Amino acid sequence: MSGLSYLCDYGDSEESETEESRITVKEKSKLPVPNLTKVTVCPPDSYCDDPRQHHGRLRTFPHIRGNWATLVYIKCPDESAILDLLCKIKFVFKTIDETCYPCDNLHISVTKTVVLKYHLITSFTTSLQEIISGIETFELGFDTIEVYTNEEKTRTFVALKADHLSRKFLLRIVEKVDNVLEDYNLPTFYKEPSFHMSILWWKGDLKDAILKHIDELNTILAQEKEVYKKFCIQKVDCKLGNKYYQFHLD
Ligand code: AMP
Repeated sequence: MSGLSYLCDYGDSEESETEESRITVKEKSKLPVPNLTKVTVCPPDSYCDDPRQHHGRLRTFPHIRGNWATLVYIKCPDESAILDLLCKIKFVFKTIDETCYPCDNLHISVTKTVVLKYHLITSFTTSLQEIISGIETFELGFDTIEVYTNEEKTRTFVALKADHLSRKFLLRIVEKVDNVLEDYNLPTFYKEPSFHMSILWWKGDLKDAILKHIDELNTILAQEKEVYKKFCIQKVDCKLGNKYYQFHLD
């Protein structure tokens, strides 16, 4: 991926697990046990912090013990539907000298990557569970290709932009998740969100060079029936350091 796989840079399974076990023992007798029965916690990825494994991407903030990089997102339900398009788009950029990389863990972000303190994880995920269970499932569609850079302009992304109808549902999710982020004094999402699923990325700011090909890219997209089908979205995912949580929609 773009932002998502990048989160593995911040989670240190060994030190986090040790810290977790210590804190859990201390807290057990003091705190009421939250109801997380409906939250699925997936097995963690193995920790990786080798720049060679993520094409030399730079950390945008340092790894500090106790800080957990956090992203809430909608996972692409069918990555195979995108593969054909990805190959065709990569071919368009064979003339650009810079190497482009396919994004892994395709997703649509509904938060920026924020930093959560370790001791807030349980209450944060409980709050997410509460607000997300009240939101209905929806159909996700894409209609155009768009180019983005990250805020630091160290990376450029080619992405599928969510269509107008999907945007309505995604805004509903962002509005609710933003309320939770505000409760935790964390930065909220973009004031004018442009919902997208990044599929290719480059190092540096290549937006102008890539935009020269935008009509060609949209012509290719228009021929891709698989991408134009609707994807049924039934859950929202959250990656917290090296842990994955899933929250089911209504
Ligand atoms: P993502 O694939 O979700 O990591 O998004 C790729 C990049 O798009 C992120 O680094 C965002 O900072 C950037 N981006 C720029 N403008 C926007 C916007 N209006 N809404 C959402 N993401 C944006």
